[in-house]
Amino acid sequence: MPLFQPDLEAMPRAQLTALQEERLSALLARLEANTLSPFWSGRLRGHGSAAGSFRRLEDLARFPFTRKTDLRDSYPFGMFAIAMRDVVRLHASSGTRGRPTIVGYSANDIAVFADVNARALAAAGATPDDVIHNAYGYGLFTGGLGFHYGIERLGATSVPVSGGNTPLQLQLMRDLGARGLCATPSFTMLLAERAQEAGVLGDLRLGYACLGAEPWSDELRAKIEDAFDGIDACDVYGLSEVIGPGVATECREQKDGLHVAEDHFYPEIIDPESGEPLPEGSQGELVLTTLTKEAFPVLRYRTGDVTALKSEACPCGRTGRRLARISGRVDDMLVIRGVNVFPSEIEAVVMAQPMLAGQYVIVVDRRGTMPRLEVHAELAGPAGEGAGADLIAALKADLAQRLRISCAVTVGAPGYLQRTEQGKARRVFDRVDARDPLPEPS
Ligand SMILES: [Zn+2]
Repeated sequence: MPLFQPDLEAMPRAQLTALQEERLSALLARLEANTLSPFWSGRLRGHGSAAGSFRRLEDLARFPFTRKTDLRDSYPFGMFAIAMRDVVRLHASSGTRGRPTIVGYSANDIAVFADVNARALAAAGATPDDVIHNAYGYGLFTGGLGFHYGIERLGATSVPVSGGNTPLQLQLMRDLGARGLCATPSFTMLLAERAQEAGVLGDLRLGYACLGAEPWSDELRAKIEDAFDGIDACDVYGLSEVIGPGVATECREQKDGLHVAEDHFYPEIIDPESGEPLPEGSQGELVLTTLTKEAFPVLRYRTGDVTALKSEACPCGRTGRRLARISGRVDDMLVIRGVNVFPSEIEAVVMAQPMLAGQYVIVVDRRGTMPRLEVHAELAGPAGEGAGADLIAALKADLAQRLRISCAVTVGAPGYLQRTEQGKARRVFDRVDARDPLPEPS
């Protein structure tokens, strides 16, 4: 499949930079002059950062950040930059605590949302001839509708199945001949396991998958691609505060970092402590500015996601810089005895062990003065040779090498850990008293 919008996705860098500068300048002027949202006019006028002083991309670093707390404080519509009569849709973020954050879209925003998701699908290998099974949740969450409109924009056929009911999902994938799958990586792994158990894996025609909404690892990718007989599993990145899925996407040619749709979203990497921009290639917090959003623009939004930007040429021809796979969240980073640990690093170790299934849970035991880490995993098949003490010792050694701290390891029989049929899998639990924090397997 060629690029969905080659003129935009493969735009020469110099031309792209000029377009970004022009769009940033227009955005800043529009926000400063905005009379509908006191948030934006106040934010820009109050910081000695008048829009007129913006000339070059480097100037952006002088402008203030937008934070998740700004969205919460301006609930529900305080940051909307157009009149409500021009807003055609609302979504809400999947915030874990407190009130949700509400985001809005103009008709043009929805068109951009459809375009960037069509780009992501095409980058994974989708064509207009395909039936695409969309198992992302439909509703306030942006995943379902974002991909739905992307599938239709591409001209393919959408199966809007949403989450849950795995047996029905497998039946539909088989009977309707799905070539593409849109889902979370954890749910995709569950589909693979259930298809294997039901003996229907060989009946599926799956060729590619657009997987996102959770951090995942190359090791899990290898497991998924292998389980579905050599499909292309590509990572998709997005967040509702910026637009939803489609902000950045992997191409099947490289699968090494996600091309940012830089004509719509401008990325920066900053030091999460100091807020200073970091040189290219450094790992830090991803900050995004929307270049074309009308209803709900964000300026230098602190995503909380930890990654790095790389600009080496890609064989696919796309010129958008690539985000390294997200290592985790600035606020999900576990600090265990002074060492920073991302759940994704534990996932990578678990996935690399062929005797284990693609499920794992991390428990932070907080009962003592110093927190201790427990990793719970599960055997891929019936316990056999080497499944006992040797496997646990090997896992402990691999974890200690990767994380630089020691962990307790438990390996259960198949079915030991609960599966998530809807939404994002919860991987981290705290142990604070004698009760077992792990949820019961379903
Ligand atoms: Zn590429």
